[in-house]
Amino acid sequence: MTHAPQPKPWIMAIHPYVPGRSTTDDGGKAVKLSSNENPLGTSPAARAAYAAAATVLERYPDAGAPELREAIAARFGLDAARVIQGNGSDEVLHLAAGAFAGQGDEVIFVRYGFAVYEIAARRVGAVPVVAPDRDYATDVDAILACVTDRTRIVYVANPNNPTGTFAPREEIARLHAGLRPDILLVLDQAYAEYLDAADDDGGLDLAKTAANVLVTRTFSKIHGLASERIGWGYAHADVIAAMHRIRLPFNVTIGGQRAAIAALGDRDFVAHTREHNARWRAWFADEIGKLGNAGMRAVPSEANFVLVVFEGALTAEEAYKGLMAAGYIVRWLPGQGLSQGLRITIGTEEETRGVMAALRALAGQG
Ligand code: PMP
Repeated sequence: MTHAPQPKPWIMAIHPYVPGRSTTDDGGKAVKLSSNENPLGTSPAARAAYAAAATVLERYPDAGAPELREAIAARFGLDAARVIQGNGSDEVLHLAAGAFAGQGDEVIFVRYGFAVYEIAARRVGAVPVVAPDRDYATDVDAILACVTDRTRIVYVANPNNPTGTFAPREEIARLHAGLRPDILLVLDQAYAEYLDAADDDGGLDLAKTAANVLVTRTFSKIHGLASERIGWGYAHADVIAAMHRIRLPFNVTIGGQRAAIAALGDRDFVAHTREHNARWRAWFADEIGKLGNAGMRAVPSEANFVLVVFEGALTAEEAYKGLMAAGYIVRWLPGQGLSQGLRITIGTEEETRGVMAALRALAGQG
């Protein structure tokens, strides 16, 4: 028997988050297509702002991140007082669970949803409830069927990670209309900027008017600032105030804030990344379509990655290992019940063509 402190049983029920790898099995360097980062890098303006901020290391950042919140509000037509900054949007997702769910409460998300939802729910002792998908896509009716008196939060990523699927605005409105007002609907919009539906507001319109909707966004993806850990959330003032109570006081660095503000202003970089992604995502999905006879298919994606499902002789595990041997690291997620698929980030043209050629070769069609 150990005399060390015993963790809470619900903490021991957590399967720790497994990040995308950046080296091969033998420690070699490889093309990393496993974490949905921006293959085009970071906006030069953001880099410059970050470098300029790096001179002030001895001071704490402003705990409330007012400049960052105001820049976000100005960019998206929001009320800055209702924006909360996070150490990545991961933190905002955790803050939602910390403030609105506890022991015995239920938290719903879809099968093949983002791994952090389950961790955030278990961390506070809540019970994760998994709604079935509809061919990898979010099924609003299935989510609504899971709601009970104990439901406190519904997390929906839109587009979803790891499937890339997207539920249109009307579906999200239908989901919201079906939820009691005391249930917080968290719309995780980490990939909102990649949507083909350019008129989609990423849930912000709903969050402006509904008191129980929290939209989360990030600078990690299209803005190429993953290492700086800047995310944000938008919700009713009371929801935001509750989350501020438990937020770490200095959760975003000065360099990260300055870089994020500059990134918001570099619309050309965002547009360029979006176009690059749309073009190569379409190309990649088309090419996978040609491997249908080998049992591969691409789940329709509106994000910066594609989930490839393996239903033929070549299994996802074999393809994962084969790609690794060829120098490409992609994401295989058996721990999330997704042993039949590989999530592949859209890289540069060269990387995308390269991983496709490697897949073709593994399918015996190289
Ligand atoms: N939500 C989704 C759906 C994601 O895929 C990710 C990144 N993997 C995040 C949130 C968190 O991103 P970050 O903490 O870097 O903002």
